[in-house]
Amino acid sequence: MNNLTIYAGPCAVESKAQMREIESCIKDLGLHWMRAGVFKPRVSPHSFQGLGYDGLEILSDCRLNTITEVTETSQIEAVMNACSAIQIGSRNMTNYALLKDIGKKTMDFPILFKRGMSATISEWLSASEYISTNGNSNIILCERGIRTFEDSTRFTLDISAVPVVHKQSNYPVCVDVSHAAGDSDLVPSLACAAVAAGADALMIEVHPNPMKALSDGPQQLNLIQFEALVTRLRKFGRKLI
Ligand code: PEP
Ligand code: MN
Repeated sequence: MNNLTIYAGPCAVESKAQMREIESCIKDLGLHWMRAGVFKPRVSPHSFQGLGYDGLEILSDCRLNTITEVTETSQIEAVMNACSAIQIGSRNMTNYALLKDIGKKTMDFPILFKRGMSATISEWLSASEYISTNGNSNIILCERGIRTFEDSTRFTLDISAVPVVHKQSNYPVCVDVSHAAGDSDLVPSLACAAVAAGADALMIEVHPNPMKALSDGPQQLNLIQFEALVTRLRKFGRKLI
């Protein structure tokens, strides 16, 4: 069985102290990746928008591999200098101009490409070709939940997407369980389901104090909950990285 990559970290970079605390936790667990947003595409312009380039500077000091979202072409170069991978968020899956620029400007830099919340798998795979045909095929596809009539979760995690994408493409599949769930209590079950379905990677939001988080507090695991989940995930016998 291949490795299971865990992209863990806060919804957003909030401070140096917050990042140091999460970084130590991830490192102590023997994991290698930190996720954290600095350019936050929020539903409301009145919500916390991320620390922008100041946040990127904090992220660049992290002694782990890092991944952050890019929302505009002008951010690509700075993110490539500061981080180890680029994320394209759900809201930008159909921003074809951005996808083309990512393809052209990033060579084989890893790109985590999220599914649009209302996109079919076929539309998602097709959109990924805007990146690959413009020069970068180092793509990780990330399922993050879709909109359905069900409203007891933030989005409906489409577990079927994992085997379907594996059948239709050669790209690794990541599952972002946190944005799908919208509720930290549901995250461990969804993470185990994703691994059982064959996911190559998981994205999990983790915060030292979720109640005080500036964004997505209800869905973020605290450090103790994250440690417990990692212990549970080790039972699948995959090497966690
Ligand atoms: C995120 O991962 O920070 C994020 C905003 O997720 P999504 O694009 O899936 O909503
Ligand atoms: Mn978030």
